[in-house]
Amino acid sequence: MTNTLLHIDNVYKTFPVKAGFGRSAVAKAVDGVTLSVGAGEVVGLVGESGCGKSTLGRIALNLIEPTAGTVSFKGRVLSTLDKDELRSLRKEMQIIFQDPFASLNPRMRVQEIIVEPLVIHGLARKDELADRAAALLQKVGLTTDALRRYPHEFSGGQRQRIGIARSLASNPSFIVADEPVSALDVSVQAQIINLLDDLRSEMGLAFLFVAHDLNLVHHFSDRVAVMYLGRIVEIANSDEIYRNPSHPYTEALLADIPVADPTVKRKHILLNADIPSPTQIPPGCRFHTRCIHRFEPCDKLVPKTTDLGNGHFVDCHLRG
Ligand code: SF4
Repeated sequence: MTNTLLHIDNVYKTFPVKAGFGRSAVAKAVDGVTLSVGAGEVVGLVGESGCGKSTLGRIALNLIEPTAGTVSFKGRVLSTLDKDELRSLRKEMQIIFQDPFASLNPRMRVQEIIVEPLVIHGLARKDELADRAAALLQKVGLTTDALRRYPHEFSGGQRQRIGIARSLASNPSFIVADEPVSALDVSVQAQIINLLDDLRSEMGLAFLFVAHDLNLVHHFSDRVAVMYLGRIVEIANSDEIYRNPSHPYTEALLADIPVADPTVKRKHILLNADIPSPTQIPPGCRFHTRCIHRFEPCDKLVPKTTDLGNGHFVDCHLRG
């Protein structure tokens, strides 16, 4: 990876939660994550619901403050910046939300929605706004007759295109795409992924692409990080992780994906139980309660990170 754009350094995030009977507990949503995204790079972040990936995406954008650790963007540690400096950097860091039905203000016309970031950041004169909105709509494959309409007049895919146009308005260099297609029909998902891929090539955008579907992530990402109960347990080049998954959890996530490539052999691994609560992370390897390969040290010793070469890292006693 060249030219690090975003660097998440040993980040933790805990939340107080109610545990019933008047008791409280601490949920460890992110539990010691280090991750970088290079300029123009797409890093896929995958895992089941509740593994902390969306929280990490919001920490990357400084929308949530980490409990410990730092996030740097273009070499500047976000927590050390003042309000004006943060505001200025925020133009370059945007988010595409999961739910295109909830993320657009239903009372605003499409033009107002798209140009709002330009107005907030003072990036365009009033008389330029209509043209800028029209150009952004065209970029995402919609026609300018959409400008005067309201979000409820559009399909899910069209609304997600409007959300993407809004996220592009301030000409960002980094976007967190938080499950951007999981609320859409399967037939529309590929269109949106293809659009993001085109925009990435055209604008040199970097993405942290949060998803639970490894197949989607494989096609769109340069590297893939697999997250389990707040930690990254495996990271590698996208093709490498798809062909040679080395953590039993990654293998299990891949097991259900049909393989079109005859050179890829897939073992079928089932997960033993439900994902534990982030308030009760198992000792030793946090995956041991579900792992069919667990052996003597797994429930006592936390596995170290093993370097398998070529940027492939895994946390598992089998590989250590
Ligand atoms: Fe399974 Fe043990 Fe590896 Fe954890 S360390 S993934 S329990 S084999």
